[in-house]
Amino acid sequence: MPIPDLPILPDDDSLLSKKFGRETANYFSGSPLNRLSFLRTDHAFLQSAFSHPSAAFLLMNNLSPLVGTDSSNLAFVPTADVLPLTGPEPFVKTEEELIRDFNSEETHPVILFLGVDEKNRLPSHNVGVPEEFVYKNYKGSPYFAIDITPRGSFAAAANALIAAVQERGYSFHDNSPRHMGLHAGQAATYGQARALMDWNARNPFCAQCGQRTLSVNAGTKRVCPPTDLASGTRVDRKPCATRGTISNLSFPRTDPTVIMAVVNADGTKILLGRQRRWPKYWYSTLAGFQEPGESIEEAVRREVWEESGVHLGRVVLHSSQPWPFPASLMIGAVGQALPGEGETIYLGNDAELESAKWFPLDEVREALLKGTSNLGEAAPEGYVEGALRLPPQTAIANRLITAVVDGWWVSPRM
Ligand SMILES: [Zn+2]
Repeated sequence: MPIPDLPILPDDDSLLSKKFGRETANYFSGSPLNRLSFLRTDHAFLQSAFSHPSAAFLLMNNLSPLVGTDSSNLAFVPTADVLPLTGPEPFVKTEEELIRDFNSEETHPVILFLGVDEKNRLPSHNVGVPEEFVYKNYKGSPYFAIDITPRGSFAAAANALIAAVQERGYSFHDNSPRHMGLHAGQAATYGQARALMDWNARNPFCAQCGQRTLSVNAGTKRVCPPTDLASGTRVDRKPCATRGTISNLSFPRTDPTVIMAVVNADGTKILLGRQRRWPKYWYSTLAGFQEPGESIEEAVRREVWEESGVHLGRVVLHSSQPWPFPASLMIGAVGQALPGEGETIYLGNDAELESAKWFPLDEVREALLKGTSNLGEAAPEGYVEGALRLPPQTAIANRLITAVVDGWWVSPRM
C-alpha cells in the first residue's frame, strides 16, 4: 500500500511553530471542505446547494462509500441520480415545518450536508460545469452524503441506483470497515460522512422517551417531534423532556480516547504493548478511553499504570486523530516514566495486554522503516521474520512513535 499523502500544514515561521514545531495532521483529518455548520438550519441554502449542477453526492450503502475503479478515490454522483430517493425538493420545507409534519410511517434517506469545496480539491462528477455555486458570501461545489441503504419506501429506488452505479464501474468499498487506502483529504470526508451516518442509524429512537426521532440540521441533529401524522391526522405524541430546555440529548457524540508514546526516564527506550489477537511480533502504543471527570494528562497516566504498571510523570499533548469507528477522537500524547521503580512493568492490574516491553529506540527506528503495515495485511517486503512490527503511517500510534524516535519531545523537528 502506498503511504497516503497526509495533510500537513505548510511550514511557517510563526511564533507557535518556532516554539512547538510543525503541527502534525493525522489521517482522517484535513478535510478540504468548509462545513459552513451555521447554515445547516437554512433550508433556502440547503435546497439551492442540493439543486445546483455542481452538487456532488457520496452514496453510502451500509456505511460503505462509493469508490472509483482504483478504490483510493471516492466516487461522487450528481443530484439527478439521487432524485428518485429524495424527490426534487427535500429542503423546500423549513425545519419547523418538517418537524410539524413528522410522519413516523414514512422513510426518508438521511441527506447529510458535508460542506463546500472552495478550492476544487475533491474528485467530482462535474468537470466542466460552468457555473460556480454561490450563496451570500460563500462559494464552492456543495458536497453531500446520502444513506442509500435500501429500506422502507425508498428500497426499490435505492436498489436501482446501486445497480446503475455498479454498471458505471463504481463499487461500494466493503473489504474492511476501516477504509485506510483513500487519499488523505478524501479519507477525512469519508470519516465525516461515516461517523454521522452511523450515528443517525444508531439513533432511530429518542434516548429520553423511546419514541421515533427525525433527522434535521442536514443530518447533524435528531429531534423528538411533538406530533405524528401516521394516522392521517396530526396526533399528539407522549411528552418528552427533549422538547423543553434539555435539547442536547440528540446531538452526535464524539468519544475521546487517549493514546500515548511512553519514553523511559533517560530517554533511550519506548514502551510498547501488544494484544493477544494481533499478528506475531506486532506492538503498538498503549491507549484507552478518557473517563468523565479526569484531565487528558491524568487519563494518560491512569491508562499506562493500569495496563503496564509503569508510573508516568510529565505528559504533553502531541496531536489528535478523528477515528470514525464509530465515533472516537484519538488524543495523542507523549509521556515520560518516573525513574527507577517507575519503569517497572507489571501486567497484573488489567488483563488487556498480552505483553508490554521497553524497546531501544534503534530497534524501533528500524521497525518504522521495515515493519509497518495495516493490521490484517502481510508484513512488507524486506521484513525479517521475528523483528518488531508496527502500525502504518495512517495510524496516530505510528506518528507518536515516530515523534519519539525523531526526538520531538526533546526539541521539535517535525
Ligand atoms: Zn423523546
